[in-house]
Amino acid sequence: MEPSLKQKLDLGNITLDNFLEAFDRVEAERLLYTLASLHDIGEEITSSEQPDIKSSMGSLLRMMMGTILCTKAAVLLYAKYKYALQSVVVKGMEGNFYLRLDPKELSLWSSITHPIALAEAEEKLPAFYKTHQEQLEQNGIQLLVPLIVKDNLVGCLLLGDKLDKQAYKSTDLILLAMIARQVSIDIYKFILMDDLKQTSDKLRKQKAELVEANMGVQKMSEISMKFISILDEKKLFHAILDEMLTSTAASKGLILKVDHAQDALSVMCHKNTEPFAQRTLLPYRQYEALAKTIESGEPHICMLDEGRIWQVESRYALFVPIHNKHSEEQTYVSYILAVFDKERRGGGFLTFNERDEAILLSYANYASILIENVRNYELATKDGLTQLYVRRFFDQRLVEQVEKANQFNRPFSLMIMDIDHFKHVNDTFGHGVGDQCIKLVASTIQRNIRTELDIPARYGGEEFTILMPEADGEKAWMVAERIRAAVESTDVSHLVTGRNITISVGVATYPQHGGHPKQLMEAADLALYRSKGAGRNRVSMADESL
Ligand code: GH3
Ligand code: MG
Ligand code: MG
Repeated sequence: MEPSLKQKLDLGNITLDNFLEAFDRVEAERLLYTLASLHDIGEEITSSEQPDIKSSMGSLLRMMMGTILCTKAAVLLYAKYKYALQSVVVKGMEGNFYLRLDPKELSLWSSITHPIALAEAEEKLPAFYKTHQEQLEQNGIQLLVPLIVKDNLVGCLLLGDKLDKQAYKSTDLILLAMIARQVSIDIYKFILMDDLKQTSDKLRKQKAELVEANMGVQKMSEISMKFISILDEKKLFHAILDEMLTSTAASKGLILKVDHAQDALSVMCHKNTEPFAQRTLLPYRQYEALAKTIESGEPHICMLDEGRIWQVESRYALFVPIHNKHSEEQTYVSYILAVFDKERRGGGFLTFNERDEAILLSYANYASILIENVRNYELATKDGLTQLYVRRFFDQRLVEQVEKANQFNRPFSLMIMDIDHFKHVNDTFGHGVGDQCIKLVASTIQRNIRTELDIPARYGGEEFTILMPEADGEKAWMVAERIRAAVESTDVSHLVTGRNITISVGVATYPQHGGHPKQLMEAADLALYRSKGAGRNRVSMADESL
């Protein structure tokens, strides 16, 4: 059965009869004003995307105090995880309320549908009364208005003395009950919206993190695939630095090597900074964040007070250490990844954030493995004394070169060189001096070839070979002659006396002198033998007739 109007308007002990009795014209105006205000406040909460409960409850309280004409009032929200009523706005009183509830008494609270006097609480909410009576009395609280929605406590209004010090009238109680109903719904809406917002914020954040993490993994595996094939330290550092700048939007960057013995840094590579003179040692102790990064092994984000670090003009910096992977027991910072001045989309610069730090940390991790990889590769392919390639490496490259040359019908050359009368050097000046001479010839070779293309090797004790892709016989002969002349004219007076170091060379070219690695090597060796036979310190071309 439909409830009657009388039942609908039953506000606890306030009935339609005393409602109609009590409301004269002035009271009716008061009622209309209250209804209109309540509507406005309700709308404010629902229409705003981010409702501000404090300001909404503030307006509500002001309106309520203006209608009821009371001197003190507070709106408390029920924090369900704390089992406590907590004030959001308090007017006419000092301090805040934090009123713990007895969980067992919650059902009592939700059964109270109308305002009650503080004294009534002794019977209706005994645990609450016992715990908080003193504080509420001290604050002059007279009325409690529980705020209930669907049998759930969502908050409570507290009211102090009326302005005229009179008792609350039945019309006040009717208005308060109406206000309480509307406020309960507003608070409930707010709680729902806030929950919803928090949930969607959390979801959005999780989604972003997931996408980012996924992108990170994908990007990192792409990058590491690219990096792993770089077997030259310098090229590796350049590639890493390029990626570092792209992924952090940094405008400049450096990779620095830590020289612990000299307590200084040297630049391995730089991008978009002023150039650094080779092998310069840079002091770093005056840059606190950098010094801390090296000492603690932890990354540091900082602002550079002077607006520069060495000759790099910069405001914001991020330093990330690379730890050496050489020994397990003794780890130290071996390199520093440094990026400067993150570019803001609309222009200008920004400081770096934790995401940038995380990105560089993963680069640092990869880098330490890749550096180790490059080192191992160097150890396996380069000769310790001369830093030229070892014989095995040369032989492999030669096989590849012959295959390539067959495929594309391109010429290439190779040469074998041998130091003249080297036994004599060893016998007269000792093995140490002999080694120095070998190093000297090796560095002369390095200086006279194309670093990107040619493959120079220490083929045996004092024998060297050079593989020269794309070079015909004439070109190779010129290079051989240049090296021979350079070795002969090197001042070795600090090593040996009475003579200069000289070399003899044999040159062979594909395809004239052979179509297979072995044939070509034999042809060059024969040419070398002819150089020796013809008096040494000379270059011979392989004989086409052989
Ligand atoms: P030739 O002009 O005919 O080449 O005379 P040679 O004395 O140089 O003769 P050969 O090339 O046969 O001798 C190579 C010598 O080089 C033998 C060895 O004592 C020396 N040797 C080989 N490897 C090394 C090395 O790593 N260090 C030093 N110091 N000497 C080496
Ligand atoms: Mg020899
Ligand atoms: Mg020799």
